[in-house]
Amino acid sequence: LIRARGIRKSFGSQQVLRGIDLDVQSGEVCCVIGPSGSGKSTLLRCINHLEKLDGGQIHVGGELIGYRRSGNRLHELSVREAARQRAGIGMVFQRFNLFPHRTALENVMEGPRQVKREPAAEVRERALALLGRVGLRDKAGSYPAQLSGGQQQRVAIARALAMRPQVMLFDEPTSALDPELVGEVLETMRSLAEEGMTMIIVTHEIGFAREVADTLIFIDEGVIVEQGPPRDVIAAPSHERTRAFLSKVL
Ligand code: ATP
Ligand code: MG
Repeated sequence: LIRARGIRKSFGSQQVLRGIDLDVQSGEVCCVIGPSGSGKSTLLRCINHLEKLDGGQIHVGGELIGYRRSGNRLHELSVREAARQRAGIGMVFQRFNLFPHRTALENVMEGPRQVKREPAAEVRERALALLGRVGLRDKAGSYPAQLSGGQQQRVAIARALAMRPQVMLFDEPTSALDPELVGEVLETMRSLAEEGMTMIIVTHEIGFAREVADTLIFIDEGVIVEQGPPRDVIAAPSHERTRAFLSKVL
């Protein structure tokens, strides 16, 4: 479902991604770990074209992301076209960037209403069902400030799901949370995985990755150093850099 080839991205003279190849099948959960500054967030941002690529190509659901091919040249999509593509790729960030002056329900309804112009009654019903799915049906009328961090993050997940994405990208969704709130968000992600959602999750929750991921990827200095079934990577990393990193986070 996701196919990335030779992804390169630099900021100024700094090469942040140095040739990433990535395949994620439909229904697969892929967890990404790696040191701070290794390029994990940049990789996710490239997948939904929040960053321009300096090299390589990404396809999601068979569609080239961010560019249009004409002859043998690539032209960047318009802002509008890129936004349409992005609507099919849900993203949840470390900081739950909900609209503060909208209720949980309004936050979840926002995308389908504003971007897709779907009818209010239908969107409202779906939004309430999604809030139920993340265990927050009774918080529909609450504002973000009235919710805990874990609840806000679950609203953010419901909001992403409201667009019916074919893929969900998570960038350290629990790392800004108080420890006692981490579990409820991981549970929500686990149930999405069980329902067959295709996901790429950047996380330092190694226990979660071991149980839920089909593939664990270790990125260091902009390259994939190691990937495989999480148990294998965790129990018997074949690269010294992976071993050193795991010894710090386990
Ligand atoms: P962390 O675990 O701390 O979130 P990360 O693996 O997500 O790290 P990235 O955020 O992808 O790392 O950043 C990789 C490198 O790219 C860092 O050195 C960062 O400073 C740099 N970088 C990221 N975004 C930009 C930007 N917009 N402009 C300039 N440099 C950037
Ligand atoms: Mg990051």
